[in-house]
Amino acid sequence: MGKLFITIVITILVISNSVLFSQTEKLTSNNKLIEADGSILLPAQKSVNMNLTTQPIKSEQNWFDFQAKNPSWKVFFNGITGMPHRAFGKPIQVNGFSSVNENNIEEVALAFIEQNRKLFNISPDELKLRKKLQINNLWTLSYSQIYQGIEVLLTEVELRIRPDAKVMAFGINFYKDINLEIVPAISQSKAKEIAYEGLTFDNKKDQVLSDEGKLFILPVKTNNSVSFGLVREMIVDMPSSNQKFASYVDMHNGEILWRRNLIANVETSINVKGGVKLVSRLSEQTDENFGNLNLLVNGQSYYTDENGNVTVDISSASPITSSLNGKYAKVVYDGQTNASFTGTVSPGEPFNLLWSNNNSHRFERTLYYHANHAHSFYKMMDPVSKAMDFQLSVTIYNYGQPNAGSDLEQGNISFFGANGTSLYVVETPSVLYHEYGHSINTRLYKEMGISQGMVNLACHEALADLNAGLMTDQPKVGYLAFPDTNETIRNLVNTRKYPANINGESHNDGQILGGAFWDLRKVTNLDYARWLVHYTKKMGTPDDENTGIAFFEWFIETLITDDSHGDGDNDMSNGTPYSKEIIESFNKHDIGTKLAMQLSFEHTPYGDTQDTENPYKIQFVVRNPITFLNYEPKNVKLHYSNDGLKTKTELAATYLGNDTYEAYIPAMPKGTIMKYYMSALDEGSNQNVYFSKDNLNFKPYEFLIGYKVGFTDDFENSTGWIFGDPSDAATGGRWELGVPQLVAMQASTGYVVIQPGTDHSENGTKCLVTGASNGGGTQQGIIANMPNGKTTVISPPFDISGTEKPIFSYYRFFSNVPYIGGNPGSFRTLVSSNNGDNWVQVELTNNPTDDWEKTYFPIESFVQKSNRFRVKFEFTGYRYSGIPMYFAEGLVDDIEILTANDGANITDVQNYTLRQAQDDIKTSSISVSPNPFVDFVTISLNEAESSSFDKLRMTSFKIREILIFDIYGKIIKTLKPNNSKNLIWDATDDNGNTVSKGIYFVRTQIEGKYISEKIILE
Ligand SMILES: [Zn+2]
Repeated sequence: MGKLFITIVITILVISNSVLFSQTEKLTSNNKLIEADGSILLPAQKSVNMNLTTQPIKSEQNWFDFQAKNPSWKVFFNGITGMPHRAFGKPIQVNGFSSVNENNIEEVALAFIEQNRKLFNISPDELKLRKKLQINNLWTLSYSQIYQGIEVLLTEVELRIRPDAKVMAFGINFYKDINLEIVPAISQSKAKEIAYEGLTFDNKKDQVLSDEGKLFILPVKTNNSVSFGLVREMIVDMPSSNQKFASYVDMHNGEILWRRNLIANVETSINVKGGVKLVSRLSEQTDENFGNLNLLVNGQSYYTDENGNVTVDISSASPITSSLNGKYAKVVYDGQTNASFTGTVSPGEPFNLLWSNNNSHRFERTLYYHANHAHSFYKMMDPVSKAMDFQLSVTIYNYGQPNAGSDLEQGNISFFGANGTSLYVVETPSVLYHEYGHSINTRLYKEMGISQGMVNLACHEALADLNAGLMTDQPKVGYLAFPDTNETIRNLVNTRKYPANINGESHNDGQILGGAFWDLRKVTNLDYARWLVHYTKKMGTPDDENTGIAFFEWFIETLITDDSHGDGDNDMSNGTPYSKEIIESFNKHDIGTKLAMQLSFEHTPYGDTQDTENPYKIQFVVRNPITFLNYEPKNVKLHYSNDGLKTKTELAATYLGNDTYEAYIPAMPKGTIMKYYMSALDEGSNQNVYFSKDNLNFKPYEFLIGYKVGFTDDFENSTGWIFGDPSDAATGGRWELGVPQLVAMQASTGYVVIQPGTDHSENGTKCLVTGASNGGGTQQGIIANMPNGKTTVISPPFDISGTEKPIFSYYRFFSNVPYIGGNPGSFRTLVSSNNGDNWVQVELTNNPTDDWEKTYFPIESFVQKSNRFRVKFEFTGYRYSGIPMYFAEGLVDDIEILTANDGANITDVQNYTLRQAQDDIKTSSISVSPNPFVDFVTISLNEAESSSFDKLRMTSFKIREILIFDIYGKIIKTLKPNNSKNLIWDATDDNGNTVSKGIYFVRTQIEGKYISEKIILE
């Protein structure tokens, strides 16, 4: 099941999908816009410019005069009329009055206007009282303006007068410069038709009530001017569509200047539901509320609340449209007709919008519903966090194997193979909840200021599984996703341990941490487990590229978070409320106290030494870092071996204080490879903890005693290495001596280097590499440049016969990243003591290195010392239909041959380079004996040792065949070489017939050079 829920890293181009509802514009005959509800607005109703100013404009001198007398007064002017729109200040006594009552109040008001005549500039016959009331001892009087006996709409002169006849505020909205003919120019019947222009007017049922239609003067204000129309008010009564308007038609030019909707908007409730499966694909479909969904009513945008409800204000039957596009989720079904709804809402009538098979696919509905549900759950956990308050894009694809993935940059989610039946991904909510968990990890860490998000993919998967598990309180992630209902994708109920069950596949590895939290959930309670997991994530943001360290951080941060909850006192020295349960749960998966002790270990590895006299002091630090658990490491020991761990000796370490221990390995003779590691008992888990160089793949510390470098090659000027072998299958990515080029990629396991950009040598650029090229940086080029079969490189022969306990050492880089999966790349090392006639395997490995890593082996563990010692590296990459199963490359640099003796012998090793090997070839020659001959002749190379070098080439490349030519240059016999250095020709041709007496030539080719000898058959 390892390949399920592969976290793919996809870059989704987010195209803004905001829906611009293009409403059909309706205009009157003189180009006035008719609003969606049928009304026609005055310019000022649509203007954002308020045209109020504190600066006096036209009547400034009048205002200054007024203010000189009443310095505390403040004013806001109407920027168009120049009149004080509202003014107030210290109350002003109206002269001649000391109090007001019902009978004198109008007199008082007009007296005030008269006493400030210059400011008001209004005569009483231009005013018509419309309001007079007393509330809490304050009188309010309000007048409309009258022009030649006709009321001017939207005007007002207002005064606020106290019982002591003092004015405390006033406002003037009055037009002094109206200049208008007051006799209508068009007929009333004409005006009636204009009144309903642009409305769906039913002549039989609807009518215009104009008989009492009054004349008014209507000021039409634009941004900086005002014009006036002589208008007739007509009531357009339209029972056919439940609409009613007041129209104001200009009686001079027939323009409709204003039309008011007389039916106030009606609050109309809409509920949205959709048919979804709540628990699994086997659930009966039920209609559930669709929250946070976008609706367009009359072109206006609304969102449903969490319960799928929304109230819209409409005055008439209005179009409603929607798609599965909401505040927190948007569902797109690739290549299919997407969910779409259109309908009509009537004012005051509850409207139910149902998503069903008629307007959507059940996959779209299910994902929309569950994505919202996941969002609501998150907000319930953490109402303050805004991390998930974004429009999550959920895309459904039918192509591919059933799977799902989260984009670890944005948090968007994709489903593949949606209509497959081998695994029901879309209708298994826990699959979406798992992916939503990834989105939370990504976005919450970013919200917490960690720009790269959560890095460790094992933790990413653990927390994604926990999101699914804790949302549903169901440990089976992918519950009922399979046709076989007993099968599940993953199970949080497990006994997986660190590092025993680590295999580098993040879903697998994540189950260790997921399992620990689930065990904790079982011994505590659901609400607490939900709280603890979320707030440990949020407060601690535990993470590390190294999975062991990341798990350790989760352990410690969980304890810290726990101490801030319930009875916690935020003091870790005295334990935490649930520390017992947390430690037990994590220890069940070996990521509790044992891992903590392992990670607390400190040691500087003992270096290679020439000292063969004194014991070797090994010092190290080990402690129990969980301070409130009052125990020290027990049975602290050092283990060592001088025979490659065949036999081991253990020593009790001595405690020196400060968590420091030491033990002494006795002195050893030259040529010892010392391996050692430490151990201690952790009382928290009651387990022994081992401390080595690599805790994941137990690798002991090592040091060499009494070794010296006998030969070294940094591959900068190296010659003599043989590239290729007849059994090689690779046609691309073969070993070569070159400058490596950086090849790196974002893989499912993170950012990985396939080929490093530099060699290992401190001063140099070159090394042995399988395809020293980045393939042009394209994926195709990278693939073409990786070994697609076996490729071999063979060292020149080394004379190590004079060495003691020789060691072959080299630096290795080995990448091995799963691509389509299958066989990983393999790196094989072999040695020969007889120049390549026979090979012995030293190592065959699939374990990639993190970086350049030193590797060495004692030669005599595999072959005898000789003067023709060779090393061979075989690298194999596997493909399926030409596609790499793994992205794998191998590199070798800085080889050394170490010896445990001094002096001349070492020099021999150093001097035997390829040049000498090539010299061997040059001096090679063929000898024949006897010559002349009668029955047969023995053909041999005259230098046995050097010829054996050729033999390697011979067997490797079949370069050399020994050919017998006649004097006319015709090949009469081809002698196939065997591994013997001598060949015999029995004077027959290739057909087996004895050739005639005479002169013949024996010829062969070594390194492109022909060597020949004349023979005489008698
Ligand atoms: Zn995942």
